Amino acid sequence: MEKSIDVGILGATGAVGQQFIALLAEHPWFRVTWLGASQRSEGKAYRDASAWRLASPLPDDIARLGVDAATPGRAPKLVFSGLDSSVAGEIEGAFAQAGHLVVSNSKNYRMEPDVPLLIPEVNADHLGLLDSQALRGWKGRIVTNPNCTTVVLSMALAPLCQFGLKTVMVTTLQAISGAGYPGVASWDILGNVIPFIDGEEEKVETEPKKILGRLRDNRVEPHPARMSAQTTRVGVLNGHTESVSVALEQHPTPEVIIDAWQSFKGKLQLMELPSAPARPVVYLTERNRPQPALDVDRGRGMTVSVGRLRPCPVLDYKFIALGHNTIRGAAGAAILNAELMHREGLL
Ligand code: NAP
Repeated sequence: MEKSIDVGILGATGAVGQQFIALLAEHPWFRVTWLGASQRSEGKAYRDASAWRLASPLPDDIARLGVDAATPGRAPKLVFSGLDSSVAGEIEGAFAQAGHLVVSNSKNYRMEPDVPLLIPEVNADHLGLLDSQALRGWKGRIVTNPNCTTVVLSMALAPLCQFGLKTVMVTTLQAISGAGYPGVASWDILGNVIPFIDGEEEKVETEPKKILGRLRDNRVEPHPARMSAQTTRVGVLNGHTESVSVALEQHPTPEVIIDAWQSFKGKLQLMELPSAPARPVVYLTERNRPQPALDVDRGRGMTVSVGRLRPCPVLDYKFIALGHNTIRGAAGAAILNAELMHREGLL
């Protein structure tokens, strides 16, 4: 198959960067030709700069590729970013200024009013914000994907918006791979639950409102639902599990809600993008599912699994949602965003 579009990866050595390399190895359109990371890695062959931690083999051509400084110039026009958020703001801004299209995982630009915070199945029309980035004097553009917890929640909530979503309460059980590598010390996480993830609850309470919001007059009107989140880190390798309760204005039966999840498609599937799962949301009927050990890789890690829908004595309904945090929650999400932009003629 022809790989016709050169791409670069900023933060190529990290947990998300490695997932980019693995997912792009077989990609029909995108060919990785450039890798950028910190001064620690600069000038080394990728195999020496990174501690490869994925089960899939490191492709030979990438292993030999040299890691460059994270500065614009030699990188191709389309650049995926898995940069640490402490540096992503400045570096991604410099790449956009210099004319690159940055498709980012980092939090830094997500809530900027002129930057799309994109889940293609949910809010593809928010790409309409891109034009207003010209006002910053950028020759390029930045598109972001949500926080790994937010994307799972937002995909589970999107089919419920038609019933008048009023209130959302969510408690998360988040995998250790969500903290990057080496992440949380084994001493802290083995046999333990850590009831604090810095900055996470604020992201989970604000990002879904932008994603589920309406694009009007070149800005996003946030969805009015009230959101409350409690986030915890648990000893799971991959997959964020979320225990969700919702209040709705209407009174759909459980069957109607399950049908809304099962039939949820978005415009994207019609376009048959390479990374789009056939089913973005799947409802599991077994009473002890979804589980990260069994369900995290559904749809090549791009499907959100939902289960255990039941009445909530406080709000209206409660359920469990699960998604792969480094695929649907990071690299896979960004690749899908870039595929959508390619199809829309924006690359
Ligand atoms: P990570 O494993 O710590 O990797 C961070 C990357 O940033 C490395 O490639 C590192 O390069 C690079 N970097 C650090 N300082 C730099 C500097 N001064 N200049 C240039 N590059 C620098 O982190 P991660 O888990 O992959 O996360 C990356 C980003 O994605 C973060 O913003 C995170 O919040 C976001 N994210 C992560 C997940 C997840 O599930 N892990 C999900 C969604 C979003 P060196 O190796 O050379 O230091």
